[in-house]
Amino acid sequence: MATDANASPANAYIPYSCQTIEDEDVAAVVGALKSPFLTQGPEIPAFERAFAELHDIAHCIAVSNATAGLHIACLALGLGPGDRAWTVPNSFVASANCIRYCGAEADFVDIDPISRTMSVAALAEKLAAAESSGELPKIVIPVDFAGMPSDMPAIRTLADRYGFKIVEDASHAVGASLDGNMVGSAWADITVFSFHAVKIVTTAEGGLCATDDAGLAQRMRLLASHGITRDRDLMEEPVPGDWYYEQVLLGYNYRMTDLQAALGRSQLARLPSMQARRESLVNRYNRLLADMPLKLPSARPNAVSAHHLYVVEIDPAGTSATRASLFARLREAGIGVNVHYIPIHLQPYYQRLGFKPGDYPAAEAYYANAVSLPLYPRLSEESQDRVARELAVAL
Ligand SMILES: *Cc1c(COP(=O)(O)O)cnc(C)c1O
Repeated sequence: MATDANASPANAYIPYSCQTIEDEDVAAVVGALKSPFLTQGPEIPAFERAFAELHDIAHCIAVSNATAGLHIACLALGLGPGDRAWTVPNSFVASANCIRYCGAEADFVDIDPISRTMSVAALAEKLAAAESSGELPKIVIPVDFAGMPSDMPAIRTLADRYGFKIVEDASHAVGASLDGNMVGSAWADITVFSFHAVKIVTTAEGGLCATDDAGLAQRMRLLASHGITRDRDLMEEPVPGDWYYEQVLLGYNYRMTDLQAALGRSQLARLPSMQARRESLVNRYNRLLADMPLKLPSARPNAVSAHHLYVVEIDPAGTSATRASLFARLREAGIGVNVHYIPIHLQPYYQRLGFKPGDYPAAEAYYANAVSLPLYPRLSEESQDRVARELAVAL
């Protein structure tokens, strides 16, 4: 949404998220537009290098969106029919759909109500049961909800014990860190980021797969581009001339464009300042809302959140307002609240696969009371005060 709260009258619509596009971003895209390369030019490797450096990861593969990235991450790890993979119900549907794209069985691990990310206790319990029944997952996909890293050290310990791979869905968590390690650099086999317009930095649509494993990186590169290679080391037939390329596996057209990468690299340069602004707005919300009947987001010790979302949960013990009444009241007042997320297992598609209400009580209880408040770098303090005032009235 294009509304700029800084430049708007007092009653202007405040979106829940809004990209930050500066003149330098426009110049970067125009530069790429005027270059000989619109699609596969020098901006993509430059963006991948910048991202790899920032996140301290060896290999980065820019892709068309994070959904595509999750798909090829699962494929690169060999997920297929007869396999199982687990994620959390409290996420965007793409976190589970990638499992289904591979023809594998999707299942869920409930969330921890404090961090709102995968419950390590629930994961450990489910793994123990799955081991006895011979139904261990090949992949587990924790989601760094709202920008807060999942409990990756504990999930890595379980991965080593039970032999599953970790694909970390860090769509919300560009720039986040845990125990001094940038997201993606320490515990997961593959980490996937999103650059959709509502996320931390944007390429309009876009995503990226990151790994320290050269073999996985090579496989994901092939999968993102039709399974085609021009690398002679990967070819199976004699090379008849310089025109020659080979398709060595069945891949997709999941490539990012040079225009998008130029935007991404320009955005990435401002990540620290955008991050600092999000953090200061979050601290301000924490103060403004402290005395309201709301459960506020909590921080994980030793973590730096990317602060993608600011989600409050209504405390039913402290108010007769419901999520529905609060949501309607704020929308009427021109405040673009949202809900992240309707539990994935309750979507009709997943209910048809056998999931039902009651399966994941923590994710369902969270969902019943959750509201995402506006949070983006250009949100003004005046607008934030208005959100707090309207909240106080609605509660
Ligand atoms: C946005 C999002 C995705 C999908 O990202 P796209 O780039 O839009 O495909 C996947 N997982 C989570 C948790 C997301 O928030």
